Amino acid sequence: MLKDKVAVVTGGTRGIGYAIVKKYLENGAKVILFGSRPETVEKALSSLKSENPSWPVEGFHPNLSDAKEVAKTIEGIKEKYGRIDILVNNAGISDSTKADAYEDGQFEKVMDLNVNAIFHAVQPAVKIMKEQGGGCILNTSSMVSISGQPGGVAYPASKFAVNGLTLSLARELGPSNIRVNAVAPGITKTDMVAALPDEMIQPLIKTIPLRRVGEPEDVANAFLFLASDMASYVTGEILSVDGAARA
Ligand code: NAD
Repeated sequence: MLKDKVAVVTGGTRGIGYAIVKKYLENGAKVILFGSRPETVEKALSSLKSENPSWPVEGFHPNLSDAKEVAKTIEGIKEKYGRIDILVNNAGISDSTKADAYEDGQFEKVMDLNVNAIFHAVQPAVKIMKEQGGGCILNTSSMVSISGQPGGVAYPASKFAVNGLTLSLARELGPSNIRVNAVAPGITKTDMVAALPDEMIQPLIKTIPLRRVGEPEDVANAFLFLASDMASYVTGEILSVDGAARA
């Protein structure tokens, strides 16, 4: 579904991002993953290579808070591969701090990675996509971008902003043949969720109409569809992948 497309995936070293990288490789894309540290990038690459040594994948660890560093990395990828078809802004951190317990800079840290970093990657990518006549930008939102959550207000605030970026960029960039969409996962079994005790997970599952938490692959499938030509007329969409838990 993505034969010979060039895809950049931020936060691609584990969890949902790793599942997206794998799904894209299985579907014929060349993938460049970003992680926060050299060790985690190396670990992800060696795990992917052990699954299939011929997969065209490499990794970088630009500081996503640094617009210039991100732009330089993305421009270097364009130099090497000749184009960038898909940008997935997936890196993110969550938060559950109560409003009156936030420490100095904590709110800003969440906004910086979950929102500002997306803009840092979007700017150079849009320039490249305009020059090549089109492209596709995908953002990882969250179920809490619809309902909010009781605590960790920075996290839902950041994901509401992700939806705002997605809807606005879709309108701005449609005439340049750049589609912009987001996926809003519900509770997904990444390392963090998998480590939770059963007595915490079971009551949560009872509130989900599909009666299970999501797998990273459930979410990656939505990212595959939205990146592919099957979604050629889909833009400005926030696609929930949450077993209807948002209701
Ligand atoms: P995870 O913690 O397993 O992975 C996070 C990824 O982001 C990693 O690859 C990590 O390298 C990267 N990252 C973290 N901090 C970074 C930094 N400072 N600089 C650069 N990269 C950094 O998380 P996940 O659950 O796979 O989450 C991925 C995305 O999905 C996030 O945007 C998250 O908000 C969203 N999400 C997750 C869930 C869930 O239940 N797991 C639900 C809704 C939305």
